Formats: sequence, structure tokens, C-alpha cells
Amino acid sequence: MKPTLRTSLRFDRQGMKRPDDAYISELRTAPATRYFIMADTKPVFTSNADRTAADLRWFTAAQLTGLGLNVDEAIFLGVDRKTGAGHFALALTEHRANAGAGAAELFKPLVDLRSLAMQGVMSADDISLVNQAKALTHWHEAAHHCGRCGGSTVMKDGGWKRKCNACDTEHFPRTDPVVIMLITDGERCLLGHEARFSKEPRMYSTLAGFIEPGEDLEHAVQREIFEEAGLTVGEVRYHSSQPWGFPHTLMLGAMGFADTTTINIDPTEIEEARWFSKSEAQSMLDRKHPENWWVPGQQAIARALIQAFVDGWWKKSTGAI
Ligand SMILES: [Zn+2]
Repeated sequence: MKPTLRTSLRFDRQGMKRPDDAYISELRTAPATRYFIMADTKPVFTSNADRTAADLRWFTAAQLTGLGLNVDEAIFLGVDRKTGAGHFALALTEHRANAGAGAAELFKPLVDLRSLAMQGVMSADDISLVNQAKALTHWHEAAHHCGRCGGSTVMKDGGWKRKCNACDTEHFPRTDPVVIMLITDGERCLLGHEARFSKEPRMYSTLAGFIEPGEDLEHAVQREIFEEAGLTVGEVRYHSSQPWGFPHTLMLGAMGFADTTTINIDPTEIEEARWFSKSEAQSMLDRKHPENWWVPGQQAIARALIQAFVDGWWKKSTGAI
């Protein structure tokens, strides 16, 4: 099962058309076009009285202009596949919002993406659009100057490129690949409690790490598991992937088969790692583990990997059964 935080298919991103400045410019003010707002990378949304459900709040260009906001730097998300209406995300700092007449009032309450995703109050589509906009917004904030010559850059292609005013170098949005891996010895799976999970003392998850330059997915899995848990991993199989806007990561989910079983953790990264049986993993998915241990929720690819282990994905994918 796919995580709730994933690629939204609601809009056609129109990669071929968005370099056309006149097209994007016209779309920005078209009556059917809608915008949602990212205020300090948190989405503006509406929610029901008890805050168990939340929807992105969509605005017209006229509404935003009336609030003193400029839509020219909004990021093009795409056109609705059913209606053809253009959709954008407008990133604001709280400072800029305060400068617009009446705009500051829109930004309450604000909840960050991680909390919204964990609470599961937004639809998968909405939360995935926030994830997409957050990754782009974060990149734009760090890309105002050219990495080659230091000149200023300007947004192009509806926010999918920046171009240096001085040397014409084109800069594209960053995506940082990370491996996240479920390691099995055939019967059990390896889960760890990372030092950074200190707020969630009973949560165990799959291990993860950045892919280094010149490294393939298989090597990254083998290296990370040796570094973090002291295990030697042989065969590695790709399972699935997930865009993860913290800030602009692509999680590449894999399963790896351990050739050794003695765990030796790196205490700077991992507080504890151990082998879990299939039934134990199932009880953690169900939040029924006798020691109250649990695993990440529906928003996370880690859960999909743990579920795949419980379902025997490795054996099925290798033709062992
Ligand atoms: Zn430059």
C-alpha cells in the first residue's frame, strides 16, 4: 500500500508547456485558476470544528491581489486533469504576509507538514501537494544566488527553474536521494530506534541514509547497514519510492538480505536496533505490541516496507515460494 505522502496525480504538471512565459502569465490571472498559500512553508487550510479534517484553502488571483499579495512568483503546480483549471502555490514569509492588508489573518492556524501528515487529517492529494510545494519553496529560498558566479537568479518556467542574470546558468530544483531499507534475515526484520526519535521513545523504524555521489542504491544500502548496524548485506531489491519534503528528498525504498545477523550499532546514529519476528512486526503495525512499541504511520514509506515484509514480499519477489 502506498504511503499517504506521495505523488499527487490530480494535476498535469505540463512540463512541456511551462517554459512558455506568456502561457504561465495568462494562466496566473485566469478566472478559473486557484492558489493555495504556503506561509513559512506551512499550508493555509480550513478545518472542521473539532479539527479532525482539513482541506487546503484555495484562492483566486483577485482575492490574493485584494489582500496585497503578488501572484507573479507563485509556483505552477499544473492544471486540473478534469477541469483544465490552473493551480499554483504561493509561498510567503510571515513578514511578507504582514505587509499585505488583511493577509496576516489568513495564516491561523498554521500547522507544519510533518504534523499534518502524522495526524492524517488531510486527504492524500492535499498533503502530497503541500509536500511538493514545500520541496520547491525550500529550494527557491536557497537558490536566489547562482552557485557558479554568485549573481542573482530569477524564477522561470512557473517556478521549475531559476536562471542566473549574470552568466545565464540554469538551475533546477534539488531532489536528494535517500535509501530507506528493510533488512531481513529471511525470517526476521531489522528495525531501529534512531537517536533523533527521542520524542517517540517507543517507535521503531527501518534504517535510512543519504546516497553518496558515485554510489548505486545497492551499495548505499550495504554501506549504511554496515555503518549503522554492523551487518553485512548481500542481495538488495528495490521496492518503491516516496517524495519526502523534509526538505526535498526522494526516499528509495529497498529490501536487503542480511548475510550476517550479529548487530553492532553505531551509537551516534542508533540508540537500539534489533530483529523482530513477523508476528511482532504485525503487532507493531496494529499498535498492539505488548510493550507498546510501534512503527511509523500511513504517511511513511517505512510502514509500507514493514507491511511488505509481513506480507512476504521478499520471498514472492525472489520466487522463493
Ligand atoms: Zn551565474
